[in-house]
Amino acid sequence: MTGVDLADFPGLADRLEAVRGGIADACRVAERDPADVTLIVVTKFHPAALVAALAGLGVRDVGENRHQEAQSKAEELAGLGLDWHFIGQLQTKKARQAARYASAIHSIDRERLVDALATAEVEKPIDAFVQVNLTDDPARGGAAPDEVERIAERVLQTPTLRLRGLMAVAPLPEEEDPASAFARLRGHSERVRTLAPEATAISAGMTHDYAEAIAAGATHLRIGSAITGKRPDPR
Ligand SMILES: *Cc1c(COP(=O)(O)O)cnc(C)c1O
Repeated sequence: MTGVDLADFPGLADRLEAVRGGIADACRVAERDPADVTLIVVTKFHPAALVAALAGLGVRDVGENRHQEAQSKAEELAGLGLDWHFIGQLQTKKARQAARYASAIHSIDRERLVDALATAEVEKPIDAFVQVNLTDDPARGGAAPDEVERIAERVLQTPTLRLRGLMAVAPLPEEEDPASAFARLRGHSERVRTLAPEATAISAGMTHDYAEAIAAGATHLRIGSAITGKRPDPR
């Protein structure tokens, strides 16, 4: 892709800088090393040109939540060396296709999905995060907490996947304070680490709760609108 112009995305560089600063501040407060925190910029619904502009600003990790959209952006931007993180609900029948461009899948929520990914053709294992539902509403996505270890064990038995840890989305702020929800997530992470000590990653923290996520030990932040600006309507 050519002709990417930062002037097409006013404020993008400043917003990225502000979030990087916010992450550094939250790490200081939490007495954590910012090098232990990966920023994934969530670019869903935005055009490939915005992703290219972010790459020009030094972003290496981008997140997408819909397979078709992610696939077409990843193809268009294949030369940029980006790592594509799949963060949305993934249909079993799309799993093998997603494995072609995704270097990480954060939304592993059932054993059938793991089994589908087991048949994918990969150059190196895909980073796998088991998604935990921190609410009582099954529609929110993610495995129930009591299913997490079983799914993690299945990932451990799957050579195409490398278990990195857990992922979650905080409940709505009116439902629960993100700090207490992320504390539960950390407890689930500790349980998984008794099976797989290397699975230390915690993917949590979005535009409105990334400081709380950093305080609770998040290693992978998924931040969209604070950086990209308001999302266009989905097409
Ligand atoms: C959209 C999305 C994000 C980013 O949300 P923002 O509030 O825009 O930062 C993070 N995680 C998931 C799973 C998402 O779908």
